[in-house]
Amino acid sequence: MRMTYRGSFNSDTYENEGSLFSGLLMDALEGFAGPLTKRTKGREEENARNRTWRATPVLSSEFTQDSPLQDAYVGILKEKRNISKAIQSISNILPGLPHLKRCSNTRLLLTTLAYSKELEDTDKSDKDNILSQVELKELLRNKEFDLSLLEDEFQVIKIPKNPPRTKSQAANSAKTWPVNFHPDPGIEAVISGSIFDQDQLDSIEAYMKIVIEAAKLEAIGNDNCHGSSLVVDPEDGRVLAIAASKVDLHPMWHAAMIAIDLVARLQGGGTWNFCKSTENKNEISPKLKSTSIGTEIKDGIKAKRKFYEDTPVCFPESLRSIPLPESKPLWIKAKNKRKDDGSCNMESQEKIGPYLCTGYWVFLLREPCAMCAMALLHSRVIRIFYGIASEGSGVLGSKAILHSVPGLNHRYQVWKDVLEQECQEAWSEIISRDSS
Ligand SMILES: [Zn+2]
Repeated sequence: MRMTYRGSFNSDTYENEGSLFSGLLMDALEGFAGPLTKRTKGREEENARNRTWRATPVLSSEFTQDSPLQDAYVGILKEKRNISKAIQSISNILPGLPHLKRCSNTRLLLTTLAYSKELEDTDKSDKDNILSQVELKELLRNKEFDLSLLEDEFQVIKIPKNPPRTKSQAANSAKTWPVNFHPDPGIEAVISGSIFDQDQLDSIEAYMKIVIEAAKLEAIGNDNCHGSSLVVDPEDGRVLAIAASKVDLHPMWHAAMIAIDLVARLQGGGTWNFCKSTENKNEISPKLKSTSIGTEIKDGIKAKRKFYEDTPVCFPESLRSIPLPESKPLWIKAKNKRKDDGSCNMESQEKIGPYLCTGYWVFLLREPCAMCAMALLHSRVIRIFYGIASEGSGVLGSKAILHSVPGLNHRYQVWKDVLEQECQEAWSEIISRDSS
C-alpha cells in the first residue's frame, strides 16, 4: 500500500531554494517561491485549515532578537529649513550608521558616544572610550561644521546598534530612531511560513509520519538520541534511508548517524556493519546491484549517486514495512547554478563530486545531539526537519543553534515542530514502552 498526495507539484513556481539561515541567508534564499497560482492558493486555504502543525524555522539570534541599543548624540536644529545643509555637512564629517536615518524631525544624529576610529585624530584621551560633548563639539568645530545651526546642548538618546534583518526587527528599531530597511522576501517567507506551498507541506508531513512510525517500531535510545531519521532526495522525492536509534547495539547508533551511514552504503561506502549486530545476517536491507555501487567516472567527474535501486535502505530491516509516499520532486534545482551547498563553489564540486548528502533533506523525530548535528553538517544535508525539541542535548535550537555558529563551512536550514503533537505522543509511547 502506498500513500498518495493530493494535488501535484507545480514546477513553475520553484527554482533553487538556496541554503542558509544565517549571515549567508540573503544570498542563499534567492529564487524562493514566486507568486502562488490561483489553484495553489485555493488549496492553501483549504489545507491550512486542516493542518494541525506549523513548521517553525530555527533561526539565529540575528533574525530573532531585537538589536541592542547604544547611546548617541543628537543635535537639535534651530531652524528646520537648514536640515539639508546640516545633513550634508555632518555626513561629510562623521559618516552615519547606514541603517539609520540621519535626521528625525529637527533632531540631527551626530555620532555614538562610543569611541570610534573616525575620531582617532582628535585630542581625545578618555580611557573609557566615551566621547564627551565637549570633545565632540571641538571635533565638529575643527571640521568646520557650523555649530550655530544647532542648539547649544546636545541630547543623548538610544539608537539601535545593528541593522534590522526582518520587518519585525525594523518595526521595533524604528520605535527608537528611524531606520533604513528593505525587507528581504526570502527571509520574510521563511519567517511567515509561506516558503513552502501546500504540496510541499503535504510531503513534509508524509515523511514525518514515516519517521514517527519508525520510532514507534524500533527506536531504542538514550537521553542524547532516542528516535528515528529519514533521508530524502528532494530532487525526486525518493526516500533514501530510514533508521531508528539502536544505542543498545552500539553507543554511536543514534538515528541520524545510522541514516548517514546507510546513505554512505548506498554510495559504496559506509562505516558500520549492521549485519553483525543483528541475529539475521541478511538483516540490513540494500540488495544493491553491483552496477549501482561506488563511483562512476563520467566526463572525468566522479558521479557518486548511481544507486537508484533498492531504496530506501533501512535499519533495522523491519522499517521497510512502512508504506512510502509516491516519489515526486520537492523542488527544482536551478538550471545553471547550484547554491545549496554553502561550502562548495562549482569548481570544487566538479573536482570532487558532491558530498555524501549534498542537497538532501533529513527528517528527525527529535532535535539532534551535537554528534548527529555535526555529522549532518559534514555530510552537507541542506534541510533538517524535526518534530520535538531535545532540551537536554539538542543543538539545533535548545542548547545551541549550531547552524548559526560563525566559521562553519556549511550551514543547513532547520525547521522544528513538524507534526509536533504526533511526535510527542510517539515519544511518550516509546518512553513508557522502555520503562515497562
Ligand atoms: Zn545523536
